[in-house]
Amino acid sequence: MPVLFVGHGSPMNAIEDNAFTESLSELSARLPRPKAVCVVSAHWVTDGARVLTSEHPRTIHDFYGFPKPLYEVEYPAPGAPDEAAKIASDPEIIPDQKWGLDHGSWSVLRHMYPKADVPAFQLSLDARRGFKEHLELGREIRSLRERGVLILGSGNIVHNLGQIDWNDPHGAYDWAVEFDARVKGAVDAHDATALAEPEKWGGSLLSTAHPTLEHYLPLLYCIGSTDEKDAVEYPYEGFDFGSISMRAVLFGSPAKN
Ligand code: ZN
Repeated sequence: MPVLFVGHGSPMNAIEDNAFTESLSELSARLPRPKAVCVVSAHWVTDGARVLTSEHPRTIHDFYGFPKPLYEVEYPAPGAPDEAAKIASDPEIIPDQKWGLDHGSWSVLRHMYPKADVPAFQLSLDARRGFKEHLELGREIRSLRERGVLILGSGNIVHNLGQIDWNDPHGAYDWAVEFDARVKGAVDAHDATALAEPEKWGGSLLSTAHPTLEHYLPLLYCIGSTDEKDAVEYPYEGFDFGSISMRAVLFGSPAKN
């Protein structure tokens, strides 16, 4: 099974039709149909790694100040407790029944699998882990691919909400272009070491691109669960509002139709 990273951007993408959301529908038509999806979402950060073992995960509306229709979205995909239990067999990963599918999951999945008929579960971002340890956990979940589970990292390669420029819907600051290009270069070379040391690209470049790290970290799970034999393509590229990279990365892509 391929591995996918999606830059999810604004929660409004969940209910909009635009070039980005169309790229998600096209992707799902081209990918093998997964047995389940394991989402590593920027929006589930915990102390200690957790895995969602619910049979019927609830839809979490984890955002504020958006229009009512966004709060009315339900994404009733079944969970994948058997796959989640396999991950939870690692004593460092705690089974969790309380979380659900946050918008990092459903804002993407409802465009890929609108019928909500592909089981979905989440693996949290352990706030105690450093970059290398996130990468390591990505390596540990690699076997999901062999079992037909799609690993979906959902974050953004550049994510600075404080610098959003509402007057520039698809523009980008120079530092955003630079950080995005550094990441792309390292992904092209499958340079996991570089991606796990983004501070070496300049401490202020990292802290400007990511004042907090949670939208960057899901990419490390995608890098960890792939290697240089997995062909890389970018099903979507671009920027929103100056400071958000919408770049998606598909690893191990099946040939295009
Ligand atoms: Zn987000």
